[in-house]
Amino acid sequence: MSDWYRDFANSGIGSTITKQLGLPRPVRLRRYTPGQPLLDGPALVGSAGDGRLRAEVESVLKEDGVTVLSPVTADGERGAKVAAVVLDATGVTTPADLAAAHDFLAPAVKRLGTNGRVVVLGEVPGEAPSPALAAARQALDGLVRSLAKELRAGATANLVYVPAGAEASVPGPLRFFLSGRSAYVDGQTVTLSAADVPTGDGGTTPLAGKVAVVTGAARGIGASIAEVLGRDGAHVVAVDVPAAGQALAEVANRIGGTALQLDITAPDAAARLVEHVVERHGGVDVVVHNAGITRDKLLVNMDAARWNSVLAVNLQAQLDMTQALLDADGALRPGARVVAVSSQSGIAGNRGQTNYSASKAGVIGMVRSWAAEFASRGATINAVAPGFIVTEMTAKMPFGTREVGARLNSLQQGGLPVDVAEAIAWLAQPASAGVNGQVLRVCGQNLLGA
Ligand code: NAD
Repeated sequence: MSDWYRDFANSGIGSTITKQLGLPRPVRLRRYTPGQPLLDGPALVGSAGDGRLRAEVESVLKEDGVTVLSPVTADGERGAKVAAVVLDATGVTTPADLAAAHDFLAPAVKRLGTNGRVVVLGEVPGEAPSPALAAARQALDGLVRSLAKELRAGATANLVYVPAGAEASVPGPLRFFLSGRSAYVDGQTVTLSAADVPTGDGGTTPLAGKVAVVTGAARGIGASIAEVLGRDGAHVVAVDVPAAGQALAEVANRIGGTALQLDITAPDAAARLVEHVVERHGGVDVVVHNAGITRDKLLVNMDAARWNSVLAVNLQAQLDMTQALLDADGALRPGARVVAVSSQSGIAGNRGQTNYSASKAGVIGMVRSWAAEFASRGATINAVAPGFIVTEMTAKMPFGTREVGARLNSLQQGGLPVDVAEAIAWLAQPASAGVNGQVLRVCGQNLLGA
């Protein structure tokens, strides 16, 4: 789907008009394609205080063929554009140390090119033994969120909290936030945990040999998730209701996967899913709970049917299927990944969507609660929360509502289903072993609940 306003704003006359009127000036986002270099230019790497991750960051960048500039070498190259700015702020221990973060970032960000990336690495505030230390670490969160709002031209800023002992978890998330895979992820914070992380990034097929189940795969975001997981090497079992059988078969055929017609709210749905993956594939590596419905009404007008159906599809089915997979010996293969699709509405609320928002907030509670058990099995469970995603559903919205909805974020445009799919495919990778119990918004830093 084309973005007429973005195309207009980037045309000769459109550029002049939008500039003069102070209107949003969205750019075409740099999205991932297999084989694409991690970055289109050099990266400027620095630290605030005695950071412990700078060497790790530089080695990941060099491994991926990125030229690393340090502020010292950069002095002689003032003005040259950079594709990314990475700050190791794990050495920030007092509010006064934050000045070093400012001193590095201010001139560095000035040099950031179109679709540039800022990634800040910090220590986890919750683990700080003193309030001042916690304050200094937490301050990074505010700094990054505000910087993300200041950046323009498709550039993003994200924060990764790295607790001591989780250094090996850094490369996967660092690559994600630098790459085109995170095109619509902006102003977010992810907290890593220590895990057994395989080295390397898996090249263009990080999911080779994996079996992935995707619910609601017949269309929309689910079809895109199935396609991206298939592109990354997984065999996809595409699940949807029998009524969507034809579209489901088309998706499965397109990616060399399998179609499984299943209403996930049926009483035997969880058992049938387990049976299918165990009998056909000997288990499953990746489960994406994507199927979801809306039945909007103001709470005062909402009947029980609307309430119950939304909670059943969006939340109870996810709980039942996940529990059944955990209970069946060997159904979830070692290193399994479960990714649940939540929503911005589950974080910020939305008028007319008490049922939907309850279900999507419930999904967040679910992944947080299950994270420890998954970790004990060497597995992970996370949620993604999409914001305004351009689908057939949003295409039907009235023009004005749609345009406003699409622009109310730092990237000044709606996201695409593939943006949600890329975030999920990243969480599904072996290299994401240290990302667990997290909620990642894919919303371009939407102002709602920001
Ligand atoms: P969609 O309606 O286009 O697709 C949902 C799919 O789920 C359909 O193919 C449908 O048949 C399937 N499904 C519904 N009930 C099912 C059931 N009982 N059993 C099996 N399959 C079932 O929706 P979408 O826009 O692609 O959304 C996908 C997910 O993303 C949903 O969980 C939705 O809540 C979430 N989400 C979407 C947006 C957005 O902007 N589109 C924003 C935030 C969150």
